[in-house]
Amino acid sequence: MDFELPPRAKELRDRVEAFFNAEILPRHREWHAHVMRREPVPFMAELRRKARAAGLWNLALPDLAASEPGTRCSNLEFAPLAEIMGRLPWGSEPFNCHAPDVPNMVLLQNVCTPEQKQRWLVPLLEGTARSAFAMTEPAVASSDATNIATRIERRGTRYVVNGRKWYITGAAHPECKFLIVLGRQEADGARTRQHSMVVVPMDAPGVQLVRPLRFIGWEDHVAPVGELALTEVEVPLENIIGREGDGFSASQTRLGPARIHHCMRLIGAAEVVMSLMHVRATERRTFGRTVIEYDSVQQAIASSRVEIEQARLLVLRAAWAIDRAGFRGGWRDLSLAKIAVPATVQRIADRALQIFGAMGGSDDTPIHHALAYARLMRIGDGPDEVHMRQIFRTEAAPGWSIAESPYICGLGN
Ligand SMILES: Cc1cc2nc3c(=O)[nH]c(=O)nc-3n(C[C@H](O)[C@H](O)[C@H](O)COP(=O)(O)OP(=O)(O)OC[C@H]3O[C@@H](n4cnc5c(N)ncnc54)[C@H](O)[C@@H]3O)c2cc1C
Repeated sequence: MDFELPPRAKELRDRVEAFFNAEILPRHREWHAHVMRREPVPFMAELRRKARAAGLWNLALPDLAASEPGTRCSNLEFAPLAEIMGRLPWGSEPFNCHAPDVPNMVLLQNVCTPEQKQRWLVPLLEGTARSAFAMTEPAVASSDATNIATRIERRGTRYVVNGRKWYITGAAHPECKFLIVLGRQEADGARTRQHSMVVVPMDAPGVQLVRPLRFIGWEDHVAPVGELALTEVEVPLENIIGREGDGFSASQTRLGPARIHHCMRLIGAAEVVMSLMHVRATERRTFGRTVIEYDSVQQAIASSRVEIEQARLLVLRAAWAIDRAGFRGGWRDLSLAKIAVPATVQRIADRALQIFGAMGGSDDTPIHHALAYARLMRIGDGPDEVHMRQIFRTEAAPGWSIAESPYICGLGN
């Protein structure tokens, strides 16, 4: 077993690290000031041009075709890059590696016709459009996608969409050009065959951004989250993604990449908050001692190191498994990471917040972001319990009784 990254992964990691240190991190305060004032970030377009010119574009797409812009990476190669990007809430955006556009690109790559790709995938690959994936609804428990109730009706040459969606990442971005909407088409038949997916332009009549949404007070400034009302929205039949009834299975296509990328980024966020808590503890004094001298603080830092290393190994193994066996074959490793990583990062961010005191909960540090990001990932893209249930099912019942077990003594056996 070799724990070294492959040479190409190391080379790419060094280039992304250099770009991050030279071009991104020095602008973080400026970025923060703009988003706090709710202004567009004026240097983003230039930064994206630079990243693209440096060959650091669309790094998160293992199936990138030779004709498509960017540098194709395997999941294992992308993992250390995403970790660097995850150090900042906006670290993925300059590289066109941000959610939800990347998982949407994967979906479009896999399920669309050449004409559809030209229309919707190419602008995302080029970075000239933004998108959102609209599945979750306020009225139904959306962690079970078969509950989705938004209606997609076929009327002549059009589909007509009616429903309400919420917590849709990217939908409140002013440049969001289209939604990929999951809705119910059939009321009968197998539960996983009743749904379809259509592309709905944001400017189609009947699409209303009801309000932007926060999550425990946190805002996604890269892909702002929104609630949407869809009322008699008409789209042509060619806007269907895949075939009618394929919506449920097609939506799974984007979930795998979304999950693994979030886990990769969260490791980077954890590293940052851990280093911040270390430094903060060395700079503050209470009751005649530097805070770092307290055993409880040393344990918080040491425990965080142990947990980050565990989490990173799970992520790398999941990436490796997916590269070998695809998302279907690697799902178990991915689910293990999806359960472990957000919970780990939530704990580490909570420790950092504690050690920072009040400042830890302000917008001034990235701790608030790490905590909210980790917390939301315990719900989004499959709540913990849903993944746990699947993992439990793979734990085969041993098939013997306690009395028969050779590990058990003293029962007269
Ligand atoms: C910031 C943010 C961004 C999001 N972005 C998007 C997006 O871009 N697009 C989108 O469509 N959605 C998005 N979501 C929504 C997210 O995917 C859903 O919240 C998630 O799927 C859960 O659905 P729900 O909120 O309806 O919770 P419910 O389905 O009502 O589930 C609530 C709880 O029920 C429990 N539960 C559910 N199933 C089981 C089970 N099998 N066993 C035990 N307990 C169970 C769990 O505790 C679960 O958390 C986002 C959410 C957040 C917070």
